[in-house]
Amino acid sequence: MEFTRTHLRGYHPELGAHYAHLTGYVAVVAREQRKATVSATSLTASIVRPESLSARRFAEAPLGALQNWVNGQSVPSVSAERVAVHNPATGTEITSVPVGAKGDVDAAVAAAKAALPGWRALTPGARAAALLELANAIEANADELATLEALNAGKPVGLASEDVAATVDTFRFMAGAVRAQRSLAAGEYLEGRTSFVTTEPLGVVGAITPWNYPILMAAWKLGPILAAGNTCVLKPAELTPITTVRLAELSKGILPDGVLNIVNGAGAIVGAALTKHPDVDMVSVTGSVRSGREVAKAAAESVKRVHLELGGKAAVMIFADANLTAAAETIRFAGFGNTGQDCGAACRVMVHESVHDEFVRELVEQVSTLVVGDPAAGDEVEMGPVVSQRHHQTILGFIDRAVAGGATVAVGGAAGDGDGWFVLPTVLTNVSADDECTSEEIFGPVVTVEKFSDEATAVESANATAYGLSASIWTESARRGIALSHQLNFGTVWVNDHLMFATEMPWGGVKMSGYGRDLSAYALDDYSRTKHVMVNHTQPAA
Ligand code: NAD
Repeated sequence: MEFTRTHLRGYHPELGAHYAHLTGYVAVVAREQRKATVSATSLTASIVRPESLSARRFAEAPLGALQNWVNGQSVPSVSAERVAVHNPATGTEITSVPVGAKGDVDAAVAAAKAALPGWRALTPGARAAALLELANAIEANADELATLEALNAGKPVGLASEDVAATVDTFRFMAGAVRAQRSLAAGEYLEGRTSFVTTEPLGVVGAITPWNYPILMAAWKLGPILAAGNTCVLKPAELTPITTVRLAELSKGILPDGVLNIVNGAGAIVGAALTKHPDVDMVSVTGSVRSGREVAKAAAESVKRVHLELGGKAAVMIFADANLTAAAETIRFAGFGNTGQDCGAACRVMVHESVHDEFVRELVEQVSTLVVGDPAAGDEVEMGPVVSQRHHQTILGFIDRAVAGGATVAVGGAAGDGDGWFVLPTVLTNVSADDECTSEEIFGPVVTVEKFSDEATAVESANATAYGLSASIWTESARRGIALSHQLNFGTVWVNDHLMFATEMPWGGVKMSGYGRDLSAYALDDYSRTKHVMVNHTQPAA
């Protein structure tokens, strides 16, 4: 069977050991059929929605107010104040979380501290066994988790399912990796003294996650944090807390009480309290540059170790010799999957001037076939809403200012009709390197296309952004692909691809994108410390 890419973050079982878990596949035939039914006049198509309440793929019934998870139990917050949690496809409130309080953090950190000696004393094999069991429990509840993620984050169910599969894979990988860690062999570097290195956990780690991949980002943190022998207090994003709380519930009876704790609430309250807490040994945050900077500043007071995974503005450099169709097909998914709300999204396209017009035609053709809708409408929906009303306004503001500044809307450029926070997939042309839309992270379904005339200026322009998370080069020249991968100042560089991840390979940025590394054995290193032990055996026995 032939496959083509469709979703961004996920693991497809039919690919077996190929852990390209941020790209899933559907049969080409299915896509061709869909293309035939979506005509070019649907360029600014209306939003696909369930025809009736009973036609909804999943219910929107209130879920009950969410609590915190501390010491293996669901517990209420000290604060009675709550924040509403919405379904972004309809704008309906589906649950709420506490805004949180310092007292919540104190209780969770105390539980994590009490659980630390027992958890870190376990052998890597024993910790791995628990993480494998947790992975199995997540897999057994994958449909429920994917449905909740789709409901809360506005993701197509297929994409949410791939996030859950990738979550399972992350726990399984970390369970294996911690048993296979390598270090310097013991040796005699001073006469009569034997040195060896032990790898130890850091202690209690505070983890703070974003809203765009809620359960997957929790796994990217919890997998290596717990495998390395740390205990954890995790604060989910207040917009999308549901699956993280559910993951903690699934850990009951698998992880010892107190090893994993969840405190819901606002970044400025719970996140800040976690960052400052004297019994928290490290803080790991995935989020915007602004939040990362706040966390790093606050952590400096107590000289805490900080792990930062921040924003991105991926440059996609398309040369004259590139396969333009492959590039356009990839950007269809890598730029618009998860509604463009991806730190590695293929959002800033730079095309050689000789193929610019041809490429824009191909890209517009691709983007025009995207099916935008409420994930509850069914499997044909490829792109959902953006996460919140506020974010909706922010993205539309970026588009309006770009147009006011002279950009041309090649496709999209407007809000979707009806309820919910939809933005049509948008391609902007006639933009240049120093425009707001090409240099700032929009974090929505907006791709800009610039022209360049030669390789050197293209590299210079790609590197001129404040971010340094990921970039891609499209060329048939092996020389150019390899040479430019060295010259580009980004943590990941793809050649003739974009947004493909492997659990075995590190993910993380440079410059304003932060300096933490997720995935791979490098993440285990980030959440561990080394200790040198030197034994003097020159003295005779007493
Ligand atoms: P955000 O910065 O608004 O929030 C991220 C988390 O930080 C939330 O849980 C929030 O409550 C918390 N927070 C906010 N202020 C805080 C403070 N002062 N102290 C402690 N915690 C605080 O980001 P977001 O809008 O949730 O996510 C989108 C951003 O995340 C984008 O910039 C995106 O590029 C980035 N992101 C990066 C990666 C990566 O791997 N590098 C992955 C996903 C998302």
